[in-house]
Amino acid sequence: MIIVSQSRRRIFNLFLFVFSAGVAAVGVFILYLYFNPSLSDLFWDLFTGVRNQRLLYAFFAFLIAIYPLILFSRSKPAVEYKTVTVLKCYGCDYREVRDFQRGDYVFKKIGTCNACNSERYISAIYSVPMSKIEEKEEY
Ligand SMILES: [Zn+2]
Repeated sequence: MIIVSQSRRRIFNLFLFVFSAGVAAVGVFILYLYFNPSLSDLFWDLFTGVRNQRLLYAFFAFLIAIYPLILFSRSKPAVEYKTVTVLKCYGCDYREVRDFQRGDYVFKKIGTCNACNSERYISAIYSVPMSKIEEKEEY
């Protein structure tokens, strides 16, 4: 579930980024037209003041392009996750949670149990937010 929500957020971020880049490109294009007007633009500008309108549009385009960035800068820092491995024993209630180590996989056998000499194994591997671990350690 954690992975799904993260990838969804990533897609959303990507969408926002593309949207911002697109709007910014429109703004640049409008600015370009403002500084390099065609002759007909200059002609119509005598009557309509269309060039100043363009400057305003460009301004709004940049504003819209920058807005998501402002949102991001305000958003909370990304939650850090820690991967842990749960060790269990076939023979007794032994249970240990330790940091994930390279090569760990579920049902991997990890030596014998100190208490009952049965085989110990990895029963689960999962990620937990760092904040939860800190909370737990307080108890
Ligand atoms: Zn045991």
